[in-house]
Amino acid sequence: MTRQEFIKALTLLGISIPFTNLFANDKPSQKSTFTGNVLIVGAGAAGLSAGYLLKQKGIDFKIIEATNQPGGRMKVNHTFTDFPIPLGAEWITSDNIQFGQLVDTRKVLEKIKTTGYTQNDEYYVWHHGKLLRSTLDTLNYQKFIGSSWLSFFETFIVPSIYDHISYQEPVKSIDYTNDEIVVVSDKDRYTTDRIILTVPLSILQNKEIQLTPALPKEKAKVIENTAVWPGFKAFFEFEEKFYPSFVDYIIQPEIDGQVSLYDAAWGQASNRHILGLFSVGKPAKTYGSLNDSEFKNQALKEFDKIFDGQASRTYLKHITQNWSNEPFIKGAYISDYSAPKNVAQLQTPVDNKLYFAGDAYTNGYDWGNVHNAIHSATQSVNKILFN
Ligand SMILES: Cc1cc2nc3c(=O)[nH]c(=O)nc-3n(C[C@H](O)[C@H](O)[C@H](O)COP(=O)(O)OP(=O)(O)OC[C@H]3O[C@@H](n4cnc5c(N)ncnc54)[C@H](O)[C@@H]3O)c2cc1C
Repeated sequence: MTRQEFIKALTLLGISIPFTNLFANDKPSQKSTFTGNVLIVGAGAAGLSAGYLLKQKGIDFKIIEATNQPGGRMKVNHTFTDFPIPLGAEWITSDNIQFGQLVDTRKVLEKIKTTGYTQNDEYYVWHHGKLLRSTLDTLNYQKFIGSSWLSFFETFIVPSIYDHISYQEPVKSIDYTNDEIVVVSDKDRYTTDRIILTVPLSILQNKEIQLTPALPKEKAKVIENTAVWPGFKAFFEFEEKFYPSFVDYIIQPEIDGQVSLYDAAWGQASNRHILGLFSVGKPAKTYGSLNDSEFKNQALKEFDKIFDGQASRTYLKHITQNWSNEPFIKGAYISDYSAPKNVAQLQTPVDNKLYFAGDAYTNGYDWGNVHNAIHSATQSVNKILFN
């Protein structure tokens, strides 16, 4: 049963999934006997969360990040318009906002404002050349107002672990043959007791980091066979607003991915008319294969068809983000249609030395979003501390 089928089955049975249940395994009150040091590869949501949690426990750790900034797929553009544009993670994909794995949710919400969709928001699907009114199935999603997932990490997490992060230092190899693990980056050589690997799955699939010994066969097979969806987002500014809150393209078969158009300025203190285009899977691959001017023409042609020619008439400017072209990301996230038991395999540690955390390395209950990356980091830290 895939995640989609599982969630659908629960919905049909009238059972909702309380978000807090995802954290049932946590053991914060137990005392740890672990006294070694930990090296975390990657400073996205998972790497930053893992570092923050280790800091709370007084464990010696270091985070090594390939790029020159924290956040990974939470990247934000601050210049396109008068509110932050999330080029990756945008929505809080839960009706029950939970920063509580890391910090007091109430304190966060005093500083970071969010808002949710309502029944009044116009939701449509684009199907066989027709725009059809429908029911918003992302009704429980929240959006940040004037901030972002990245702001949350920059405000509440990064400051206390700032000194532990080294940037612009891609890790090249990890040798975990002996008790003392040897990690080599393009700048330095480190020894450590435990590793938390938080790089996107595609980085492991492409063997960008040489692992010695090679991963166990079963684990290597699951890594190789788990589909990572390409990812592409774009934002367009228009002179007028001619679009509703949300339009989902009906993609068939569903397993091919997703395209959504949405009012990106929705809920923001802004008078600008910004339309977002979110795509993963095959459509993202197609958009990403075009050069900027081809993409603009293609997108405006599509929007004109949906909105009676209003897009090209009122177009002002656009930006794009092709996640498949990011050298240290190489995709969006693992397919929504992955098998939960395979995802759970991705998280399994190797030899009690190599631990995995991130949106792909979960317990198989859910994956592909920031909440999952945080939770996965919590689980890996707990495994290191309490196993
Ligand atoms: C288009 C798009 C839209 C999305 N929308 C949402 C959304 O609305 N809501 C939501 O919750 N989630 C969304 N997500 C998913 C969300 O962004 C991810 O689940 C989350 O950010 C993953 O965090 P992570 O720490 O697991 O991985 P990442 O953020 O990918 O972090 C991994 C880090 O590892 C670094 N790295 C890679 N290779 C090396 C190396 N060799 N050495 C050192 N460092 C390395 C990378 O530079 C990166 O910083 C979206 C993602 C995409 C792409």
